Amino acid sequence: MKKGHKVEETVRKTFLPFCLPSIGEAEKKEVLDTLGSGWITTGPKTKKFEENFRNYIGSQHAIAVSSCTAALHLALAALDIGPGDEVITSPFTFAATANVVEHCGARPVFVDIERETYNIDPDLIEAKITPATRAIMVVHYAGHPCEMEKIRHIATGHHLHIIEDAAHALGSEYRGKKAGTLGDVGCFSFYPTKSITTGEGGMVTCQDSALAEKIRIMSLHGISKDAWKRYSANGSWFYEVTYAGFKYNMTDIQASLGIHQLDRLEDFITARQCLASLYDEAFSGREELTLPVARKGIRHAKHLYTVLLNLGKLSVDRAEFIQKLQEENIGTSVHFIPLHLHPYYRQRYGYRKGDFPVAEDVYERIVSLPLYPMLTEEDVEYVIRAVFKIINTHHR
Ligand SMILES: *Cc1c(COP(=O)(O)O)cnc(C)c1O
Repeated sequence: MKKGHKVEETVRKTFLPFCLPSIGEAEKKEVLDTLGSGWITTGPKTKKFEENFRNYIGSQHAIAVSSCTAALHLALAALDIGPGDEVITSPFTFAATANVVEHCGARPVFVDIERETYNIDPDLIEAKITPATRAIMVVHYAGHPCEMEKIRHIATGHHLHIIEDAAHALGSEYRGKKAGTLGDVGCFSFYPTKSITTGEGGMVTCQDSALAEKIRIMSLHGISKDAWKRYSANGSWFYEVTYAGFKYNMTDIQASLGIHQLDRLEDFITARQCLASLYDEAFSGREELTLPVARKGIRHAKHLYTVLLNLGKLSVDRAEFIQKLQEENIGTSVHFIPLHLHPYYRQRYGYRKGDFPVAEDVYERIVSLPLYPMLTEEDVEYVIRAVFKIINTHHR
């Protein structure tokens, strides 16, 4: 769409949701097959999903779990991170990233983000490392991988683990390697808003066999054999508890969705990239907006499409901008409210406004627009026209 294109006046009749999952017939058939099979919890379908996922990512190991939150918790627990330890992460993320550090009794230590990618700023990490630091938990925001070379250099120098919160980054690459293979442990989400979904679900990836085995055992009560090994024809009743583990396993019902969603992932990413480029082309050169970037040497999975409002050029703020899109029947979201501004983290660590100025500035100005494979080009063009309507009317 060209700039100055005539603005359409009619508001669409139906609400355009911020996000919708794409569930196909193959997923439905597989779920029914599983329901009729007599085995509905962790079993052969979960094994197959793990195997396919491992092959796609190029990791040595993949362990399917109940959520990305569970994956992150397991990563920390398996690395023996606990009371007295510190984990460096971004404040510009979902609550789960830091909450799991709290679950381990450790302390999340926030480091401000880069202006360009909204990822953790590698140049600010070293100043936050103390003798208690054990790991850096990176978040590949919106699907743009973090600056892993710099981060790996810092981690190696200080003997720190790297955990990837790759909830946005399934299919993202950094210098030809997929997210989930860039640190010690990778964690993925299959929540309905994510690139593929199992309703709820997650995956842990890692390279080290002993660590993978520990994560697998910890994901199911700390028991040395999973239920499939105990209850199938060749199973035996005996097991031992080797850790006080969790109940974080994935069911075969979820894996049934995952197997076919993963088959469709590359098509999903292509669709997301095409739709994102429509937004890019339409909005580029508009002084009211700052658009997302993709650095050289990366593949961006386009989990989110965000715009930053240049508030000096607009007479509306972010809340009003979202309100006006809502009046056009368009759903949007904000990723994220910086964690240090939430009451829990303020009260526990005394964080205040001003502590992470880049994250705060981006937060005040950011909006996520609808971006998912079920969107049509017409939907995206409708959103573009609505955005133009607002920024043209409220330009200053
Ligand atoms: C969605 C998300 C999570 C949590 O994923 P669940 O599968 O819902 O537990 C963690 N981190 C980030 C960055 C996310 O966006």
